[in-house]
Amino acid sequence: MSGNTISSLDLVSDGIPRTLMIPPSCAVVLAAGTVESTRLALDSLGVGSTTFGTSRAGNLMAHLRSNITVRIKRTALGLPAGAPADLETTAFLVRGKSGGRQFHFQISAAATGGINPEKNMWEQIPDVEFQDHIRAIQDPNWITIVLRGIGEMVGNPNLSPDPAASWIDLSSEVDEVGRRRAYVNLVKNQSDTQLWFDMDTAAFQLAAALAGQPANIEYWNGQINAWQQNPPPVDPQTGGFWRDRLGSTHHEAGTLYAGSPGSSVSDTNGKFHGITNGYAAGPAVFPSLGSANPSLTALSLARRSADWQLVAQPGSQPQMLRFGAVLETLGGYGLYFYIKEQFTNFKLWLEWRETHTGDNSGVFIRTPGPGAANALQAAVDQGHEIQIDDIGAPDGANIHRTGAIYALQAPTSFPIKPLGLWNTYLIEANGPLIKVSLNGTPINSYTSSRQPTGYFALQAHDFPSRIQFRNLQVKKLP
Ligand SMILES: Cc1cc2nc3c(=O)[nH]c(=O)nc-3n(C[C@H](O)[C@H](O)[C@H](O)COP(=O)(O)OP(=O)(O)OC[C@H]3O[C@@H](n4cnc5c(N)ncnc54)[C@H](O)[C@@H]3O)c2cc1C
Repeated sequence: MSGNTISSLDLVSDGIPRTLMIPPSCAVVLAAGTVESTRLALDSLGVGSTTFGTSRAGNLMAHLRSNITVRIKRTALGLPAGAPADLETTAFLVRGKSGGRQFHFQISAAATGGINPEKNMWEQIPDVEFQDHIRAIQDPNWITIVLRGIGEMVGNPNLSPDPAASWIDLSSEVDEVGRRRAYVNLVKNQSDTQLWFDMDTAAFQLAAALAGQPANIEYWNGQINAWQQNPPPVDPQTGGFWRDRLGSTHHEAGTLYAGSPGSSVSDTNGKFHGITNGYAAGPAVFPSLGSANPSLTALSLARRSADWQLVAQPGSQPQMLRFGAVLETLGGYGLYFYIKEQFTNFKLWLEWRETHTGDNSGVFIRTPGPGAANALQAAVDQGHEIQIDDIGAPDGANIHRTGAIYALQAPTSFPIKPLGLWNTYLIEANGPLIKVSLNGTPINSYTSSRQPTGYFALQAHDFPSRIQFRNLQVKKLP
């Protein structure tokens, strides 16, 4: 680190230690898995740094996992008696909640039954090469069902982690290059114990409900390796033999969690607070875990970090919040740049809405990027802002109102919808001509002498302005 900027990386390449110099404009992304990324961050940023505030990274979470196997008579499930001629197999998902937290069951079922729940699951969703083999061993009487339960562990998003909760810090042991290893403290609390109990209880209840009558179902007992007629009792503290050990599901998450400055490690783009060019990617940035397997969520967030960049006015704290597919501006002044590519001739379609009158925002097109000198002013001076502001701050002039190409040309009309309803913008740029339609009505046609290509950006203008965007689509024109 040089001050608050990452300036070099120490690495070993083909067995040779090297130092790679990093210019300040280069982003460094820690994507080494939750434990290793956290170790690198603690070791590199300095324990007790402004990012962590302490020597520990809290909010470590993993999934609570159970593997319960039952078999139910074919006839009880409405299937014809006798071994099926074709391979019978199915898989589905059931979601549940307990104490405000999530769990789900990944359920697989087939007419094949083994004693190992994990092996059963892979046989039930077979590799194509084994289909004939599995079809040949199908059971004429029973359908075996594996209920793989995954429960959400509670987080502890706190820059002063609770020592009784889960966290990672640096061990006194060192690795092969002399750096301190990670020490991982993963524990469940009473609330996790309750959720796990509720999830297991629900699994046995669901299985019994599927069977209809107790005489139609048997439960696999992994302690005695045999089917039994009664469900094994669920111990309120320890559950039973069907549980995996905590952490063995490899879904560690949360230690570099995203949120607001002062109460989290990274921002909602995965950028470390207080570091100019350092990012984290992966389940490490999750503020909470949910029960879903983590990879797809982590990938979506990483794609967002890679594709968009928020440039804030110094001293201001603008944000672009995400609620599913909806973006919402919050806070001070900044531009949220789409940085994956620049566009020359295109049609840009998007929807937006205001929360209250006077909400201010805008859509920038053909604008210099976030790396330009004085990027925010460059966007205003050299790019084009299609304005969103029903009152036209600061003076009410039409050239500052919704549909204006800000400070360049006023719109011809204002077919804006009432507050709270979605408006559509179709912005067409072709050569020097920029045309704007609002809710299907052409309202602006401007011949620009400014730069003919550039980035898109969405504007966060001020507090309390809150503008929402959705359905951004672009079509390039030849
Ligand atoms: C057996 C198993 C089954 C799983 N099943 C599922 C599943 O079905 N669905 C699901 O959603 N998730 C599953 N997961 C979890 C999922 O794989 C992880 O959550 C996900 O891969 C984490 O992504 P990541 O980018 O943070 O880290 P990783 O995918 O672990 O990538 C980190 C990379 O960094 C490299 N690396 C580490 N340290 C360094 C270093 N110091 N220098 C350079 N490189 C380094 C590693 O070699 C690795 O390639 C499973 C995990 C395991 C282990």
